[in-house]
Amino acid sequence: MDTLTLKILYMIGLVSCFVIRFPHQKETKTNQIVANRRTVQEKILLFLVYIGMLVLPVIYVFSPWLKVADYELPLWANWLGVATFAIALWLFWRSHHDLGKNWSPTLELREGHTLITYGIYQYIRHPMYTSIFLWCIAQALLIPNWIAGSAGIVSFGIMYILRVGNEENMMLEQFGDDYKMYMGQTKRLVPYVL
Ligand code: SAH
Repeated sequence: MDTLTLKILYMIGLVSCFVIRFPHQKETKTNQIVANRRTVQEKILLFLVYIGMLVLPVIYVFSPWLKVADYELPLWANWLGVATFAIALWLFWRSHHDLGKNWSPTLELREGHTLITYGIYQYIRHPMYTSIFLWCIAQALLIPNWIAGSAGIVSFGIMYILRVGNEENMMLEQFGDDYKMYMGQTKRLVPYVL
C-alpha cells in the first residue's frame, strides 16, 4: 500500500481508540478513587507509552522527521495490520464495556469496585492489555518505520511486564479468594495459552 493510505488507515484506528475510550474517561472521573497505586514508576511508564503509541506515530504521520528510519513492508503485512487493528478495536471496546465503572487508566480501586469475571473477562484476566498488544502489532505493520512502528510494542511491552504483577497483587488484596479462584480459572492474555 502507498504511504498515504497507510497513514490514513492508521489514523482512523488511532482516532477510533480515543472515541471508544472517551465516554469511559468521562464516566470514571465521577467515580471516587478509594485506593491509588499511582507510583512514580507508573507515571513514568504511562509517559513512555504516551510517547511510543501516540507522539511518535503522530510525528511520523504529519512530518518528515523520522524518514531516515523508513523501510518497506509487503502488501500482505499491511493487510494483516488492518485486520489486527480491527480485532484490537473490537476487543478494546468490549473490555471497556464489560469493565464499566471499574476502569482506570492506572492502578486504582474505585468506590463500589466490583470484580468483573463475566463477558470477555471470563476468558482472560487482561483483555484490554491483549487489545493494546494487538494495536501495537498493527502499529508495526501499518507504520513501516523502525522508530515510530516499533515504539508501541517496546513501550507497552515494558509497561505490561512491570505493571501486571502489581495489578494482580492489588486485586488479590482487595478481592482475596475470589480473585485467587478467578486466577486459577483464567490466563492473562490469550485463552488457555498465556
Ligand atoms: N488489566 C485489565 C484492566 C485494565 S484497566 C485488562 O487488561 O482488561 C486497569 C484497572 O482495572 C485496574 O486499576 C483495576 O482496578 C481494574 N481491574 C482489572 N481487572 C479487573 C477485574 N477483573 N474486575 C474489576 N476491575 C478490574
